Amino acid sequence: MDLLSMIGMATKRRGDYFAQAETLAKKSKDQEDLEQKMAQESKLIVKGFRDKQMRWDEFERTMLDKTLVSALAAVYLGSDKADPKLKMEKAWPAIVGDMLPPLTTFMDEVKDYIDQGILKVGDQTEDFADVDWNAYFDNDFELDDVLTDPEDPGKYQINNPAAKASQVASAPGGVGRTWKGVLSRVMRYLSTPTFGFFNLGRFMRKQEQGFKEMRRVARKDKRTCIDCINYDEQGWQPIGSLPMPGHGCRCYDRCRCHIEYR
Ligand SMILES: [Zn+2]
Ligand SMILES: [Zn+2]
Repeated sequence: MDLLSMIGMATKRRGDYFAQAETLAKKSKDQEDLEQKMAQESKLIVKGFRDKQMRWDEFERTMLDKTLVSALAAVYLGSDKADPKLKMEKAWPAIVGDMLPPLTTFMDEVKDYIDQGILKVGDQTEDFADVDWNAYFDNDFELDDVLTDPEDPGKYQINNPAAKASQVASAPGGVGRTWKGVLSRVMRYLSTPTFGFFNLGRFMRKQEQGFKEMRRVARKDKRTCIDCINYDEQGWQPIGSLPMPGHGCRCYDRCRCHIEYR
């Protein structure tokens, strides 16, 4: 499906997404719980498609729906029950703009790998049960390590427009060329972006409450990127002048910078 068709479909189904996001947010304890729920769901979706329980077009539509619903639910949670619907409305253009272009590219890649026989539908030789979810949440997932280019750490990240199918395919181990690789990337649409969107909802709330300044506190572990360290060093800045986690840094959806307000 091309980008315009994706956006068209998303626009048509917007009302459903908002309702589903509200339900999902109410079922989730907090952002981390939502992130884990969506990680589990990613596994079911990839397995479902691989094991022929859904056809390609269902898989594609499910990816579109779940990507948008989980992002909206994250904004809802971040709003801390203060006009959550209005905040979802305000966040909608950013969600569509951030998520759908890379999602379209990713789905095209997967389709190509299937057409070329690199990924085989029905092939159950890989077991997802041995994927170490805790390691993933600790930001240390082996499948992503394969794609870290020390010269340009953002090169293979999903939100990076430069991460073209050919680069990913030529990377050692090529994420997306195995079902586990597909799963790892599906999580980066459905699960990990909830952190950034939760923070967007929270930012809107803090602004309403009259906070005047913000700062980004980086995690400072071995995976923290240079951009995040730079934001951290800037200290307190006028509210709205620093980007949300996952934006303006090359960790993208895996950024776990904490935002403080005063
Ligand atoms: Zn970073
Ligand atoms: Zn960060």
